[in-house]
Amino acid sequence: MEGRDIAHVAVEMARARCCIALTGAGVSTESGIPDFRSADGLWSRYDINEYGHIDNFLSNPGKVWRMLAEMSSTVINAQPNQAHHALAELEHRGVVKAVITQNIDALHKRAGSRNVIEFHGTMERVRCLRCGREYATENISLKNLPPQCSCGGILKPDVVLIGEPIPQDALAAAFRWASACDVMLVVGTSCEMMPAAELPHIARRHGALIVEINRENTTLSPYATHTLKGNAGEVLGRILDEITRLP
Ligand SMILES: [Zn+2]
Repeated sequence: MEGRDIAHVAVEMARARCCIALTGAGVSTESGIPDFRSADGLWSRYDINEYGHIDNFLSNPGKVWRMLAEMSSTVINAQPNQAHHALAELEHRGVVKAVITQNIDALHKRAGSRNVIEFHGTMERVRCLRCGREYATENISLKNLPPQCSCGGILKPDVVLIGEPIPQDALAAAFRWASACDVMLVVGTSCEMMPAAELPHIARRHGALIVEINRENTTLSPYATHTLKGNAGEVLGRILDEITRLP
């Protein structure tokens, strides 16, 4: 990663009419939340395709909740890192207009980002499958699994499990921002999961510059205007410094 690439990207972001960010697991690994595509931590013990599937949740919610309970304690105890803070600060300064995230850890919001589209939902809330009542996850007891609503219904985290559709409002908002932006930062995501993977290509077809920030090359790299290799927190921190220095 060259300093002049960072400087160049900073100028393009500052000049942009509408710069947005699309983020994925790589933004949160520095907060101690393991990427489910890796076999680290939680995912060395639970098979995502089994425990993450809606059919298995519905047929055996107690079993799937054992994984979800561990995941929710990981998420609740995690703190936003430099990447989340830099994006929040860039939004505060009017440079970044929106963050579309595939993460379910709510760390963008906790860092202070306001316009966040949670494409895959959030672990912060659970919802009753029978009556629809919502609860803050931190307020429910996970002593007996699965947790239940006062109506007796099973509670499910407000996240998109495998086999479930993306919520319509999040999907519509994400596609709208992707079509409208002129710079899209694609941070810490390998862009392999549909339909999120489609968003940079929509932006590109509408003439946006694509700035990829990742530790390694991805399937998006050949299409990116700039690829900045490195940890999300470090690269975004340097971009923020450059933007601060601009006249
Ligand atoms: Zn209920």
